[in-house]
Amino acid sequence: MSPKKFETSAVRTQVERSQHDEHSVPLFLTSSFVFEDAEEMRASFAEEKKRNVYSRFTNPNTNEFVEKICQMEGAEEGCAFATGMAAVFGTFAALLNSGDHILSARAVFGSTHGLFTKFLPKWNIQTTYFDVADLDRFEELVTPNTKVIYAESPTNPGLQVLDLERLGVLAKKHNLILIIDNCFATPYLQQPMDFGADLVIHSATKLIDGQGRVLGGITVGRADLMEEITAFARNTGPAMSPFNAWTLSKSLETLALRVDRHCDNAEKVADFLLQHKAVEEVRFPFHKAHPQYAIAKKQMKRGGNIVAFQVKNGIEGGKQFMDNVAMCSRSSNLGDSRTIVTQPSISTHSKLSVEDRLAVGITDGLIRISVGLEHIDDIIGDIKQALDKLV
Ligand SMILES: *Cc1c(COP(=O)(O)O)cnc(C)c1O
Repeated sequence: MSPKKFETSAVRTQVERSQHDEHSVPLFLTSSFVFEDAEEMRASFAEEKKRNVYSRFTNPNTNEFVEKICQMEGAEEGCAFATGMAAVFGTFAALLNSGDHILSARAVFGSTHGLFTKFLPKWNIQTTYFDVADLDRFEELVTPNTKVIYAESPTNPGLQVLDLERLGVLAKKHNLILIIDNCFATPYLQQPMDFGADLVIHSATKLIDGQGRVLGGITVGRADLMEEITAFARNTGPAMSPFNAWTLSKSLETLALRVDRHCDNAEKVADFLLQHKAVEEVRFPFHKAHPQYAIAKKQMKRGGNIVAFQVKNGIEGGKQFMDNVAMCSRSSNLGDSRTIVTQPSISTHSKLSVEDRLAVGITDGLIRISVGLEHIDDIIGDIKQALDKLV
């Protein structure tokens, strides 16, 4: 049989079941597993026999989650983590040595920026930022110690799109490990390994859960690299809980369906914002006016669920919009079934210096909307009444 389509493997991936032959996969809440006899125990610990031993290492629910994401991303191996940040940290900690150098896209998730600037330098691991829109100058930044290229695409919250294929070629040329945080796109919209990524990281907390319930993270990719990362995770203990893995595996069954509707709604919100008088600029990867529209079309199936726009009157205009929304949630999360509005300049990115903030396109009046699954008329209705009060 030919490989299954995305939606089918999301639903039908073969997983472990109990002796009851249940149809829906049960929750395996057990910290450890028992052995038939001493020989089975010996063989399991010697890793001659592949089986579950202890839930810090593997568990049927986590195995299911990892297997599904590997299939979706076209990856050989994977390792699940308690959160997206545990996956980011575990990946760097496992692969890098003191003295190594990271080249990262400038616009990265806030806690990832914190890891690069506050903690990795303690172990003599330095990071240099490159500009997503200026890959022509990328090679000037490569040093003999550079080991990893790290990036998100689309970026948060500026929605810049990185040319993954071009970055893949640069990584090969300089023998660097290319790691992509694919959280905004999800494996449904973009598979970075097709463009040369060696590893892909997800915060499963966002669209993969999609209902704002649980935290989770995962790294998948090349088997040789995953071996190091998995060994690190097993010894240091940032394991995903079986309950979260069970929840997230169920969520994956509806990922394609949900993300398609998220994208339908986001396209309509982006189109609506374009013609509103209180709006100065709209950023959406699948809008023709987006500076990297052609690249977005090449590497993404659809434009995603995040729309960013700038309201008139900077910080104050943004705060008024935030105060005016009646239905949408004022929150910093994203990828939820509920539409969420955020003003990054006064919240998620307020700790950045003004120069650093503007360098990644986070202007004072920038609003990020994570478009949800409510009826589109209600989403646009709420945004419209909030904006109408500003003109
Ligand atoms: C949320 C997020 C993370 C961190 O994930 P957590 O599950 O919150 O630890 C990492 N990268 C991106 C792009 C994110 O949006």
